[in-house]
Amino acid sequence: MSIKLFEEHAPEGYERLIRVEEAESGLHAFICIHSTACGPAAGGCRMWPYSCWEEARIDVLRLARGMTAKNAIAGLGLGGGKSVIIGDARVDKSEALLRAFGQAVNALSGLYYTAEDVGMSPADMRVMAEETHYAVGLESGKFGSGDPSPFTAEGVFQCLKVGAKDVFGAEAFEDRRILVQGLGHVGMALAQKLHRAGAKLIVSDINQEAVIRAHTHLHAEVCEVDDVFQTKMDIFAPCALGGILTHETVGQISAKLICGAANNQLKDDDVAQTLRARGIRYLPDFVVNAGGIISVAMEIHREGPQYRDERLNEVAKRIADILQLSDSTGRSTTSVTNDVVDAILKRARDSKLRETA
Ligand code: NAD
Repeated sequence: MSIKLFEEHAPEGYERLIRVEEAESGLHAFICIHSTACGPAAGGCRMWPYSCWEEARIDVLRLARGMTAKNAIAGLGLGGGKSVIIGDARVDKSEALLRAFGQAVNALSGLYYTAEDVGMSPADMRVMAEETHYAVGLESGKFGSGDPSPFTAEGVFQCLKVGAKDVFGAEAFEDRRILVQGLGHVGMALAQKLHRAGAKLIVSDINQEAVIRAHTHLHAEVCEVDDVFQTKMDIFAPCALGGILTHETVGQISAKLICGAANNQLKDDDVAQTLRARGIRYLPDFVVNAGGIISVAMEIHREGPQYRDERLNEVAKRIADILQLSDSTGRSTTSVTNDVVDAILKRARDSKLRETA
């Protein structure tokens, strides 16, 4: 096995972009280190059938920057990074490919920790972990943190309560029409929690099996994938794809609160202003969905469940502070959150500079 790591030009504001190739296993990947100001970079590994290197490069840059913000605001002592492997996880993933990628991560000597993302499972992490200490999200081992999704779902649920109190005057979900888009690992767990809390669930997924399960067991109303934004709802919980909130979709939606797990929900930052102008409370995804990385951080720092539970509780408190800040400044929740992140990163960089001076 002969792993090749090529140092690519990293755009301004990024620390490193590394292209990884291994011929025998067919590995084609990028690892991006956006920032190590707060600590070693951490972020999942996504396997996706990108059509070309450029598409993969754009995605890894966007995802790595997002991890810097998420890890910084969650106070995890971790920087932001991400990796992408080009290929269809159902047909191109092999033990050799996972081992080759594990070796590439290992070559960075702890600058980057990888974990599950789309197309990767805890079983895949176990294979990588045989090649490197820097593959986490393991199901076994003394510090293994397992599937992060239940913790992501719990964080989103707690934030929904804060949002409901803010918008509707009570934390309660009884008889609220809540649309959950995407019934995967996080979405289904969230739907179950909302069902138990008395919500009137509406669900949408391209996976008919998941939709039928939610309809049968959670009495959920089913919404066609293309009808989501025209459906009458009080709350929207996006748990599938990014980029779904555009000026157009936000113009159509009847929800007064948007809070879900999906990464990068806003097509671009301007949409936050449109949401505010329409009187829709948007809870920034990278704050709301931190439960998963908090769980992974517990493993990286070799801590126990108390570490995870304390930080998970802080997620909802942070959202309450962001709503207050947004009201007191008259700015969008996204804009005030970005300022908080910038201040954290500046403090971390200044303190590093002082240490090296
Ligand atoms: P998943 O792959 O298990 O589930 C995604 C679901 O969305 C699938 O059921 C899929 O069929 C569905 N879907 C895809 N396209 C759709 C469409 N057009 N309309 C409706 N449904 C569609 O993923 P997951 O782990 O549940 O994560 C969900 C989202 O949350 C992703 O955006 C992910 O990046 C983000 N997220 C997940 C975690 C975690 O702990 N798993 C942590 C942070 C953020």
